[in-house]
Amino acid sequence: MSHILVTGGSRGIGKAICSRFAESGWNVSYIYRNTQGEGSDNLFPICCDVSDPVSVEEAVRSAESRFGAIDVLVSNSGISMTGLATDHTYEDMRRIMDTNFGGFFNISKAVIPSMVHVKRGVIIAVSSMWGQTGASCESVYSASKGAVDAYAKSLAKELAPSGIRVNVVSPGVIDTDMMSSYTDDDKKELAEETLLGRLGKPEDVAETVYFLASDQASYITGQIIGINGGFLI
Ligand code: NDP
Repeated sequence: MSHILVTGGSRGIGKAICSRFAESGWNVSYIYRNTQGEGSDNLFPICCDVSDPVSVEEAVRSAESRFGAIDVLVSNSGISMTGLATDHTYEDMRRIMDTNFGGFFNISKAVIPSMVHVKRGVIIAVSSMWGQTGASCESVYSASKGAVDAYAKSLAKELAPSGIRVNVVSPGVIDTDMMSSYTDDDKKELAEETLLGRLGKPEDVAETVYFLASDQASYITGQIIGINGGFLI
């Protein structure tokens, strides 16, 4: 049975990804920081702060000892912060970069050697359309996602000779806890700005991740796949 490791699998998009794979018979390990979600025979929660490289190494070894080698890695955990660029402190910037980009760096570094060893694997990073286009009042968040995009493309180039595909999914506005600071009116406005006229659902992202992990996507690497209802073209 195949094994996927998802970071930030306790809520929102990560939870939908875990469910999609678990329901399809995969063994799923997922990392959370505070909110432990459910566990079962094929669903294994691991508490870990992805910004801490030592804890990430331990989490990966723990996932491997439960379900064996990791076939697919999804780096999804993330935090956001809204505010003027000048209102972000140095500490805010470090926390966001260390979680969103540092988390991807740490988890990839811990998983890549065993994928290289077997010359097979899939890595998918969950970024954001703001990483491509930049967002007013989400400058550091956007920068952290721009770093994720560039790192994923570099990994795709570096790891293709080892049979490892690396892609990015780049969601638009997805209705999760991350949107909790938005009012219903804000959400309505965002839906109106979206070509398809609605906010995204975590499942919209999970389906794309499932496809990218599959052999149907065996000729796709180094790409940023937008899941934004046409918000950004
Ligand atoms: P949520 O806030 O709903 O969930 C975030 C998840 O990340 C939680 O499982 C949380 O764990 C985990 N997490 C946060 N920090 C850490 C950490 N330091 N270590 C381990 N786990 C951590 O967010 P979404 O589901 O909305 O977002 C998922 C990803 O999608 C993020 O990378 C986000 O940037 C991206 N995205 C989201 C969009 C949206 O509109 N929602 C749009 C574009 C991109 P815990 O539950 O324990 O706190």
